[in-house]
Amino acid sequence: MEVLVEQPCPQCGGQITLNAAHRLLTCPYCGVKNFMQAAGAFRFILPVHKTSGQGGRLLYAPYIRFKGNVFQVNDTGISYRVVDTTQDGFPLSGLPPSLGLRPQAMPLLRVNGQSPGRFLRLSVKLSVILQKVARLNTLAGKETKKTYHQAFIGEELSYIYLPLRQEKQALIDAVVNAPLVELEKVRAVPLKGIRASKSWQVKFTATLCPRCGWSLDGEGDALVLHCLNCETSWSLGNQGLKRITAAMVQGNDKDALYLPFWKISAHLPSLNIWSFADFLERTNQPVVVGKLWRDKVMSFLIPAFKLRPKTFLHISKQSTLNQWALGQEQPLHTTLPLYPVTLPLNEARQSIKVVLAASSVSRKRVFPYLPGVHPENLSSRLVYLPFTDRQYDWLQPRTRAVIIKSVLNFGRSL
Ligand SMILES: [Zn+2]
Ligand SMILES: [Zn+2]
Repeated sequence: MEVLVEQPCPQCGGQITLNAAHRLLTCPYCGVKNFMQAAGAFRFILPVHKTSGQGGRLLYAPYIRFKGNVFQVNDTGISYRVVDTTQDGFPLSGLPPSLGLRPQAMPLLRVNGQSPGRFLRLSVKLSVILQKVARLNTLAGKETKKTYHQAFIGEELSYIYLPLRQEKQALIDAVVNAPLVELEKVRAVPLKGIRASKSWQVKFTATLCPRCGWSLDGEGDALVLHCLNCETSWSLGNQGLKRITAAMVQGNDKDALYLPFWKISAHLPSLNIWSFADFLERTNQPVVVGKLWRDKVMSFLIPAFKLRPKTFLHISKQSTLNQWALGQEQPLHTTLPLYPVTLPLNEARQSIKVVLAASSVSRKRVFPYLPGVHPENLSSRLVYLPFTDRQYDWLQPRTRAVIIKSVLNFGRSL
């Protein structure tokens, strides 16, 4: 589901509505570009209804929104599903366990230092909420399988607060102006809450290249921006603009589209995987291991853009296993058609074990050992690979990774 937020432009005050997950804000009125950073997850509130009575004080109940792919590796293979849900973070009898469709029915507002009222503290551990999310939609009977590994990838975590008006007898749902909780019944629960913290506030930073001052451009969901002037690449994170290493493999096709991958080099000591050759052997690939591959450090090539789980696994596996066929990397030309990076590096890192499992020919030799696998000496860079236009899909001719065009477009809305 697409959740929108109403956001005044920090420059001219113009009211802008944008996707709640986007970090890049381009004002249609004054043209100023900013990116938004927060100390943690973004925080939003459902707007109080205009007809919701006056008086009483506002109290906000926290909900966690999780959107992403859940992967599970077990005896029978890898299962996955797409999850998009809100879960209550302050269980209180009478409050809905989830916000349901509400967040997409109206644009949210961002919590800021001036937000009136008090906020109930999150009283459920995030890990508990994620465990609950993982179990959502699990078919009956599947529980008995042994799970070797579980990962949450491409996740978007945010807080959405439900405004309540505290009156004498009851807590009123201030979005629809209807009583929700009888205070008599929840007497023992502390409902004091805290004021909006300054640290919750989103900070706006102009998207100028920190190296040369050139204006950086990108679409709303982009997480990496390139400077067309000094050919540098910058990731948008909670610490601001951070320079990253970006490279590319040159394509022969002049109409190629360049798709971004996180190339993550790592050792997996518990499986004795140090080189690319080790990886091919441990995962029982039916190939003759080349001599040079013994000196090639193991790297995973993980798409740096959002995809449905099935395609994500296919592309990661094809690209990782066939990386030897890719030509030399060279410095990135920022003027080429580059597809935006929409999956952050830390999400890609969390998928290493899933990609290892997906690449394994012999499950028995890898799956049971997954709990003990701890990737070490991680280093990473962004690498763009050329994909050839084949009318309905994009093909990477050397790794044979294929992405159906509609699937790639669909990923933007994930
Ligand atoms: Zn503006
Ligand atoms: Zn620059």
